Amino acid sequence: MGTMDESGLCVSECSRCPALVDSRSRIVNGTGPEDADMLFVGEGPGAQEDSEGEPFVGRSGSVLDDGLRSVGLLREDVRITNCVRCRPPENRDPTTEELENCRGYLEREIDLLDPEIIVTLGKVPSEHLLGRSVAVTKEAGSIEEVRIDGTPRRVLLCVHPAATLYDRSQEDTFTETLERAASLAGVGGGDGGSGQTRLDGF
Ligand code: URA
Repeated sequence: MGTMDESGLCVSECSRCPALVDSRSRIVNGTGPEDADMLFVGEGPGAQEDSEGEPFVGRSGSVLDDGLRSVGLLREDVRITNCVRCRPPENRDPTTEELENCRGYLEREIDLLDPEIIVTLGKVPSEHLLGRSVAVTKEAGSIEEVRIDGTPRRVLLCVHPAATLYDRSQEDTFTETLERAASLAGVGGGDGGSGQTRLDGF
């Protein structure tokens, strides 16, 4: 078992996953307010995140920041975390065992934050939290109630921000999902779900 800081949100020491201990330069904890209404969950840190110690600060992070801004939110308004907190080698997906090793930290973060809505960014976090296989491009924008550590939570499935870079047709899906998230959490400029009003002004 690793060591948490006094907030209970951050892991200060952990060596459960030998491959990740080798590949990481640091543990990348979640960022954002400790009482945020919205929690974004990604897969795991990439190179940029590993070097800066913050989730979603690379190219995917810019897409996420732009998307948040388009629905009237700033990164500082939301909490952003990952399924695993250490960078996997060569950016491979985390293994089932690594996801399990880190699960307790994520559950603790969710428990303490008690968000209105959890938004899963991509396939790995969607499948990890829903406990089933997910076709994320088909299911993006849908909400499922799931028990996480015994408590029912609303999970909104979203495509990974990087998907919009490879496939432009994913951009609208991404933005509309963020609109829905803002509206469900009662924050930002959510317009109730049409996904249009806020963007008209841009
Ligand atoms: N992709 C993720 O899933 N998480 C990050 O922190 C960055 C990119």
